[in-house]
Amino acid sequence: MGKIIVLVAALVIIYYIGKEVVGAFRHLTDEELADFWAGRTQKNDPKAQRRFSEHLGSCTDCRDRLDEIRKSETGPGTDSPMIERKY
Ligand SMILES: [Zn+2]
Repeated sequence: MGKIIVLVAALVIIYYIGKEVVGAFRHLTDEELADFWAGRTQKNDPKAQRRFSEHLGSCTDCRDRLDEIRKSETGPGTDSPMIERKY
């Protein structure tokens, strides 16, 4: 029985390490990028915020997509009532 417990414990550890590693390399979804850009990730999940920053630091694909989101209306200020400016 002892061996099985050790094996299960090892598998659980491998699973969690694998999840972290895969999480770091996984591309961000449009929603995650929008949340990141709007500052919602930082507020709700600082751990994810760090992972996203690390990923964006090394992934041009996601940086390009974040640029696209920046150009769209999603971003800081979208929720603000001051968004409708009259020129
Ligand atoms: Zn990416």
